[in-house]
Amino acid sequence: MRDDFDAKWHELAEEVMSGIKEWRIKHPRATLREIESALDERLGKMRARMLADTALASAAAEMTRSEGGEGWRCPSCGKELEMRGRQERLLTSQYNQTLRIKRRYGVCPQCEAGFFPSG
Ligand SMILES: [Zn+2]
Repeated sequence: MRDDFDAKWHELAEEVMSGIKEWRIKHPRATLREIESALDERLGKMRARMLADTALASAAAEMTRSEGGEGWRCPSCGKELEMRGRQERLLTSQYNQTLRIKRRYGVCPQCEAGFFPSG
């Protein structure tokens, strides 16, 4: 997913930059304000595209996670956690209430650290 972005966004950025260069060559006497609006127009398109891609990517990630059931990743190294079922966790809430919550528990095969993924 990240590689897709790199390739797509790189292309997008190059389009913007070469577009600005071409525009500048065609408008050698442009004022600062004119340059600014030419720049804004192109950056605005790039911004919209990046926003859409990013929003779609997080929706896709959410879907993969719920379809696969598990798919939790270690927050420090990114490896998929080995799920070890549910374990009881004690949480202290506001006003010092102790809550006993059964939560999913996973262990990172690389860091050997245990996590209670959220959700
Ligand atoms: Zn890890």
